[in-house]
Amino acid sequence: MREPEIYCPHCAWRPLGSSRWLCSHHMGGCGTKWNTFWTGGVCPGCGCRWEITACLSCKQFALHKDWYHWPEPDAGQQRDRVRETEYPAGP
Ligand SMILES: [Zn+2]
Ligand SMILES: [Zn+2]
Repeated sequence: MREPEIYCPHCAWRPLGSSRWLCSHHMGGCGTKWNTFWTGGVCPGCGCRWEITACLSCKQFALHKDWYHWPEPDAGQQRDRVRETEYPAGP
């Protein structure tokens, strides 16, 4: 089972276990502080799902899903397609 790498799409900063995000009152939140990557962006205080996540390093916002960087899928599925483009080197 593969795990995504989690880091900021702007500056590649990686969240720490001790990192905390705020469910901001200014944006209609409840003021809870928690690690948003433990819950997939869902505030444990009010259940609000945050579509955007602020980087604690560069202070820019990014879509929460853009923080997850999945490894490249297996190249095995593309192998057959490559073979169709090979032509015999005949006269
Ligand atoms: Zn909240
Ligand atoms: Zn950043």
